[in-house]
Amino acid sequence: MNINVLGLSDERFQRPLDLLSQLFFEECKVNLFEDQNANITINMNIDETKCLVIGSLVGGDEFSTHYDKNEDPKLHFKAIKKAVSYVFLKLLQEYTGIQQKWGILTGIRPTKLLHKKLKSGMSREAAFKELQEDYLIHEEKIALMQNIIDRQLQVIPDLYNLQNEVSIYIGIPYCPTKCAYCTFPAYAINGRQGSVDSFLYGLHYEIEYVGAFLKERGINITTIYYGGGTPTSITAEEMDLLYEKMYSSFPNMKNVREITVEAGRPDTITPEKLEVLEKWNIDRISINPQSYHQQTLKAIGRHHTVEETITKFHLAREMGMNNINMDLIIGLPGEGLNEFQHTLNETEKLMPESLTVHTLSFKRASEMTQNKQKYKVADRKEVEQMMNEATEWTSSHKYHPYYLYRQKNILGNLENIGYALDGQDSLYNILIMEEEQTILGLGCGASSKFVHPQTGQITRFANAKDPKSYNDGYEHYTHEKIKILDTLFPMTTS
Ligand code: SF4
Repeated sequence: MNINVLGLSDERFQRPLDLLSQLFFEECKVNLFEDQNANITINMNIDETKCLVIGSLVGGDEFSTHYDKNEDPKLHFKAIKKAVSYVFLKLLQEYTGIQQKWGILTGIRPTKLLHKKLKSGMSREAAFKELQEDYLIHEEKIALMQNIIDRQLQVIPDLYNLQNEVSIYIGIPYCPTKCAYCTFPAYAINGRQGSVDSFLYGLHYEIEYVGAFLKERGINITTIYYGGGTPTSITAEEMDLLYEKMYSSFPNMKNVREITVEAGRPDTITPEKLEVLEKWNIDRISINPQSYHQQTLKAIGRHHTVEETITKFHLAREMGMNNINMDLIIGLPGEGLNEFQHTLNETEKLMPESLTVHTLSFKRASEMTQNKQKYKVADRKEVEQMMNEATEWTSSHKYHPYYLYRQKNILGNLENIGYALDGQDSLYNILIMEEEQTILGLGCGASSKFVHPQTGQITRFANAKDPKSYNDGYEHYTHEKIKILDTLFPMTTS
């Protein structure tokens, strides 16, 4: 599809229009200057003084619509951009007959927007009205957002007051093999012991120095999360030493509300590693089936069996793990409603404490996206039916949604939702989504997000993604982070 959008001289309109057009058409080009080969042309008329945008679509049936609202003049370009997006979306909805339930929102954190409105003192009714009328969000999605926010405030009542604490993310960049849809920093571990040794040396260093800084400034830690890669890819002994380092370096470990270790690949779980997790009071682990179809696992490069997922789940249970999360993916290659139903039936036999239901997304760097023709996936309608099935199934099994995020190129423009049984919600997942406090990323591929305790302004800093660069630069990454922390949490004089 090739679309001319005429009447917009500012190139800052390009990106939002590109993102919106991709919700409707897989391959789409938006031209702000006339292209003779365009399939349709949209004319936009902007009256900047009134924040009035009138748009009409020429080609095939013709439609026109407008956005007209008094907006804060201080946020002028932002307001005009919203108005243009609104008009563009409405015209494409008319043209294609497809209704986008997330309206003009293309960002990954819809709930953050609602939190922001409520925190500013806006009433629920006014916030809902704005989301519906200005952002064109469907009421079903607004209800979902509200549900999630209520839940979050119930499990973290001080969510809006955690700016003076931090959470920690620790990235371990190894996996047994690389999955086809994966863009995480994940390197096959076999044959890399030299690299693992150097990586862990650097990670211990980061933990020690960052921990010392937090202790010195009296900054407590709310949650700790080990992700990657697969943090249980390293040996039981290496895990033991790493957690020992964490306990000896970080301040007030007894006050940490939650420690999660992803054990995503069942083929990495052993009784010895479970003993180590138990020894260091790890609260929560994740064992990820993704699907209960052997053929699918093979197709996406997960070299473990369905049976292994089930056996390792039971083993973890028997060895004392009482908060286990499982990740599922809707729309994996070759899977439709029947296959997903089977996955839910298998999930019912295990009843993990929490369940994260992802919708497949084609991330640019993944093997799957680069060889898209090899992977046949369900169409928009079937993906939506699977999502509805997940919603009904979770609700009838007493799971409630507690966090959500969206991704680009996600099938059917849907979302990823975390569900949990009562009292088993992952606090870290809420904190990372809602950006209410600083999250320090240590290790490979870990990014830090510094949230200014007073202004809420966000600064990012990323460690290297590959172990080699990390091993060369871990000292630099450590001290750069400490420098930023020093500006956010200065030494107080008494
Ligand atoms: S197990 Fe997870 S992190 Fe590892 S390759 Fe697969 S998707 Fe990526």
